[in-house]
Amino acid sequence: MSYCVHIGLEIHVHLNTNTKMFCGCRAQFGEEANAYICPVCMGLPGTLPVPNKEAIVKAIQIIDSLQCKLAETLVFDRKNYFYPDMPKNYQISQYRQPVGGEGKFSYYYAGELRHIAIRELHLEEDAGKLVHAESESYVDYNRAGYPLVEIVTQPELRSPEETEAMIRQFHKTIQYLDVSDATMEEGSFRCDANISLSKDAKTLGAKVEIKNLNSFHFVKKALLFEIERQTELLNEGMPVKLETRLWNANKDITEGMRSKEEVHDYRYFQEPDIPEVSISQDVIKAAKEKKLVLPVSRLVDLLEQYRLSEQVAMIFVDEKEFGDMFYRLCESGLEAQAVAQWLAGDLRGSLSVVGSTLGDVPIRFEDLKEFFELLQEELISGRKAKQLIHAMTEGKGSPRNILKAEGWTLITDEVSIKTMAEEVCDTNPTIIEQIKSGSAKGVDFLMGALMRLSKGQIQPQRGKEILQRVVDERTENSR
Ligand code: ZN
Ligand code: MN
Repeated sequence: MSYCVHIGLEIHVHLNTNTKMFCGCRAQFGEEANAYICPVCMGLPGTLPVPNKEAIVKAIQIIDSLQCKLAETLVFDRKNYFYPDMPKNYQISQYRQPVGGEGKFSYYYAGELRHIAIRELHLEEDAGKLVHAESESYVDYNRAGYPLVEIVTQPELRSPEETEAMIRQFHKTIQYLDVSDATMEEGSFRCDANISLSKDAKTLGAKVEIKNLNSFHFVKKALLFEIERQTELLNEGMPVKLETRLWNANKDITEGMRSKEEVHDYRYFQEPDIPEVSISQDVIKAAKEKKLVLPVSRLVDLLEQYRLSEQVAMIFVDEKEFGDMFYRLCESGLEAQAVAQWLAGDLRGSLSVVGSTLGDVPIRFEDLKEFFELLQEELISGRKAKQLIHAMTEGKGSPRNILKAEGWTLITDEVSIKTMAEEVCDTNPTIIEQIKSGSAKGVDFLMGALMRLSKGQIQPQRGKEILQRVVDERTENSR
């Protein structure tokens, strides 16, 4: 039989602050082991932790983006447990009064906007890192004391596929906010998933927590595995054990790690070394100074206001610099559909050919604007425009300069076109006669001849106008 699936997430995000959460050590990843430690983050007696203002500002930016209720005062608690990567034997975290209360996260799935309730968001410090060699283990405390934000969702996700999509979009949101490096490989964006199966949608089953999910894809695979494992147990009338399991990426299975600890195991109590402080207006002001652009609102805007296809809209959300450029060009008065088509199509394609993205080539806003103006004025043919975009990605200069250098500029001046039109009429007297006797196709033929004569260099609209005038003169004069 099949069961109702309830999935919730705990997402840990490293904040990209200059210093650690409670001391002045640099928050730096991947340096020499234990290069950034001090008596405070080593928990030596007599030291006092001081909360990092920058971390609080960044946490408030996440809180705002999730529409969580901001706590009035900042209160920290000690979460007590022993593990070698934790020099103090407790973690400073928030338990009774998290800095962020209830909120929601909106994401796009299966062609619609969906929401998941956020239970809370709290600030805490990270632990160090254990490195296991063959017969010894080492500990690196550089990461001990890093500022972390933990976001806890309600168990409202219904499938592994939807969970993966939601996490990807959450990750994108953190990147947009620019509050974290958010790299999963380096552990600055980590998530644990909890899953339970039940017979009806209203009750939850026994909760299993899965850790060690260091890629989006693993989240989905681990949850699929758990659904299968728990379904089998339930079908046989066996209980599902409340426990924490680890994803084993080599075997593609989850493995029991420990029975789930209860909250009271941590002996939480208020951190006595940090006084309760109210969050001041200037901290809140600093957090709100930055205008937040959220990927989900951008997506909805692109789909509903700009009427872009889902595929193109997704490109402008996932690759933020393309989206930013799209908006800038549209705001300068260019036509949105044309801009979208060229940016997501040829420009993006050409950039991938030369192996770069919009950020690191000298394609400036001014150059792209000039390119679209050339198109609008029909000063370049569609085929040449593609070559022009490519030349621009190779850093060959501004569009007008490239056109000049390559000789791709279309001829628009009256005198040159007229001279060629006269020549075409002179060499085709029989066609002129046919036009006189009412042939409609004659002018088209002459137009073809004119384009051949100019080797396709005449701007078509302009060429047609002038040719028609020359033909009119000749057919009228001889009447
Ligand atoms: Zn320190
Ligand atoms: Mn945590």
